[in-house]
Amino acid sequence: MTTITCDMCKTTIEEASRYVNYFTIRDLDVCKPCKKQFDRDIQDAIEEKRPYTLKLHMNTMWSNMARACGRE
Ligand SMILES: [Zn+2]
Repeated sequence: MTTITCDMCKTTIEEASRYVNYFTIRDLDVCKPCKKQFDRDIQDAIEEKRPYTLKLHMNTMWSNMARACGRE
């Protein structure tokens, strides 16, 4: 059985299955509830920044993800 620790909320995910109950973003593992919340937060953060570009989206996503996981 594979267990993964979510880098955001530090919860242990039992029977971890990538893209089913957890997600890997760069070297960070994030559980499903955190990913959902993060997606909502990032949407809000992106909407405040105009003009929208994919590069901006990616940069904002990574920096927010790193901060949420205490990597900053
Ligand atoms: Zn989590």
